Amino acid sequence: MNNANRLTQEVTFSGVGVHSGETCQVRLRPGSPGGGCWMEREGERWPCLAGSVVEVERCTVLGGERTRVSTVEHLFSALAALGVYDCEIQVQGGEIPILDGSALPFVEGLKSCLEPTQAPEPLILNQPIWVGNEQSQVLALPSTICSYQYSLYYPRTPIGYQEASFEPLNESFEQKLAPARTFALEREVEWLRAQGLARGGSLDNALVVLADGFSSPLRVEQEMARHKCLDLVGDLYLLGRPLQARVLAVKAGHRWHVELAKKILRELAENAG
Ligand SMILES: [Zn+2]
Repeated sequence: MNNANRLTQEVTFSGVGVHSGETCQVRLRPGSPGGGCWMEREGERWPCLAGSVVEVERCTVLGGERTRVSTVEHLFSALAALGVYDCEIQVQGGEIPILDGSALPFVEGLKSCLEPTQAPEPLILNQPIWVGNEQSQVLALPSTICSYQYSLYYPRTPIGYQEASFEPLNESFEQKLAPARTFALEREVEWLRAQGLARGGSLDNALVVLADGFSSPLRVEQEMARHKCLDLVGDLYLLGRPLQARVLAVKAGHRWHVELAKKILRELAENAG
């Protein structure tokens, strides 16, 4: 699925928002060719680019002056994998519905409403670009193809060390990454609830990591690492174009994924100038 596609019709998804617990709806419509992806809520509209990110705690939040939309990453991951770069996304409620916590319902809902279109020019790196600190890193290396690798380490939990990789040209996003669900550690869930967060979170849309196992059987091997890889693909959709690079992430998250996207855009703009 390296080719680009455009939507042929409107597609709508509705459901609970994992953070607000409120019912949300997202409506996708075909965009103008080459016009990019735009999001609109309550009459305000912004481009789906890294510069529109307003928050990166626990999920990726985009917004403008007045309004914002949370948890864009799983929908964006599906759009990136399906090669949809021009679309209009209208949101009611402050969040993209969490659905089953994975990207699979988005892929399934969108894939039959696509037709091939001209692919945007990929972003090609000619130098390594990385972000991070002592705990977390994301590194993008020049490469002839696009690939992702994600390593997690959660000591003293059933997750332990996990890694997942994905090559869009040679592997199926729908089979490999899309089914991997959002996860949270049991102690995080208690804390989030106490803070009034994750109000829409449930065992129907998240995998909870218990002291001695998981809240439900895993859908795919290395499900947590695959989910983080799904998040990374979704956050890098904020580049606005496909990335041709080898991307390695270690114990990262939305903050560093988005930082990488911003740094890539900054450095490419400097080189072009
Ligand atoms: Zn996620």
